[in-house]
Amino acid sequence: MQTSTEILLAPGDILYREGDPNECAYVIETGEIVLYSEATGRRVDCERRGAGSIVGELSILTGQPRAVTVEAVTPCRIFRIPADQILNRFERLDPVLRACIETSISFTGTFTRQLRGDGAEAPFAPSTLRNSDDLLDELRVEADILKGLEQGQFSMVYQPIVDMRDTSIVGAEALMRWEHPALGAVSPLRFIRVAEAMGSIGKLTEFALTEACTLLQQIERIPADTPGPYVSVNISGTEIAQGSLVDLVTMLVEVKGIRPGALRLEVTETALCHDRERAARNLARLRDLGCGLSIDDFGTGFSNLAYLKLLPLTALKIDRSFAADVADNLTSRSIVSMLLGLGRDLDVDIIAEGLETQRDVDAIRALDCVLAQGFFFHRPMPADRLLATLGAQPGRRAIRRIA
Ligand code: C2E
Ligand code: CA
Ligand code: CA
Repeated sequence: MQTSTEILLAPGDILYREGDPNECAYVIETGEIVLYSEATGRRVDCERRGAGSIVGELSILTGQPRAVTVEAVTPCRIFRIPADQILNRFERLDPVLRACIETSISFTGTFTRQLRGDGAEAPFAPSTLRNSDDLLDELRVEADILKGLEQGQFSMVYQPIVDMRDTSIVGAEALMRWEHPALGAVSPLRFIRVAEAMGSIGKLTEFALTEACTLLQQIERIPADTPGPYVSVNISGTEIAQGSLVDLVTMLVEVKGIRPGALRLEVTETALCHDRERAARNLARLRDLGCGLSIDDFGTGFSNLAYLKLLPLTALKIDRSFAADVADNLTSRSIVSMLLGLGRDLDVDIIAEGLETQRDVDAIRALDCVLAQGFFFHRPMPADRLLATLGAQPGRRAIRRIA
């Protein structure tokens, strides 16, 4: 049977012809095909491809008509990939890899034209990449992270998490900032991804945890009747399965003399799916130490609820895409209600992220959600401003800076 995504070919059938428009690419599920060109007036077989190979991708990426004809050699089952799927994936690719592929494609094109004798247009014109700015920035980011850390270009800011009933601050999320001397402020989304890919993320996490524990030390040294707010630090997916993270947290809690419960680690749902066994072992060690664990961006991943139930969770943070959409979108409202119910069953805090307006707040509060984080309440701020803000809170401990 032939479907819109699946094509069956008998030997000798043509998948597409040289010069045809470039609508999609294909993956050969079973069978064998041959690629040939008749550009020189006689048939030249270029290559045979078998199961698992992709075909037709080049003309999608170059935007040119098909450069070869593709014919089935044996009976074939072929899977169709629409052009926009290929192009979307290509755009999301690491800029360095994308530049490598663009350069190879450009070289192959020039070389083929020269072999055919139709390369006269501009055989030795310098080729330029579409996204060379991206490429250079990416390489700069990659090369400069560790140097930037040593030179004090990184800092932490803290965004309060509030109890919406009285807007008191119950905790704060630690967020990293990088002021690059040439690029200016680089988004953490960008440098964290690069640091994860090149293995320097451990150093950044160590910086974040050390800064957060120093802040907790400042908060906790002040005599008070009630426990102070907690600080929550983002942990990247590649690290949660590593024992060295738990060793570092254990050491910091001891050396800084902080209440372990005042430190929370934030991990995304997807991060916990990397290496479940080792992640679960580390989380159990952190629970024994007394640290909290929040699941970040909750609702965007594909958590196995049975697995979540086994984890020593303290909080679920509902992603901004749902939390800030409750006022306008019925589906988001149902999802948030469901997540709130889940939080009650698991007996954990539920924090709505990214609330920006009174409308967002009213809609979320109508669902009996109590904790929130968002620009409506506070923007991320430096440690000294957080300490001052905490000090100004009525009914809470007075925070004085300790030298
Ligand atoms: P995240 O963990 O989901 O952090 C929340 C992000 O939402 C922060 O962006 C925060 O500034 C932003 N935000 C908070 N309230 C609002 C709001 O009302 N509206 C909008 N539009 N945004 C709001 P930021 O600081 O740019 O961080 C982006 C992401 O980078 C974080 O997302 C986290 O995944 C990552 N990140 C930041 N710092 C660290 C870090 O120290 N370590 C690791 N591993 N990742 C970090
Ligand atoms: Ca977070
Ligand atoms: Ca989040």
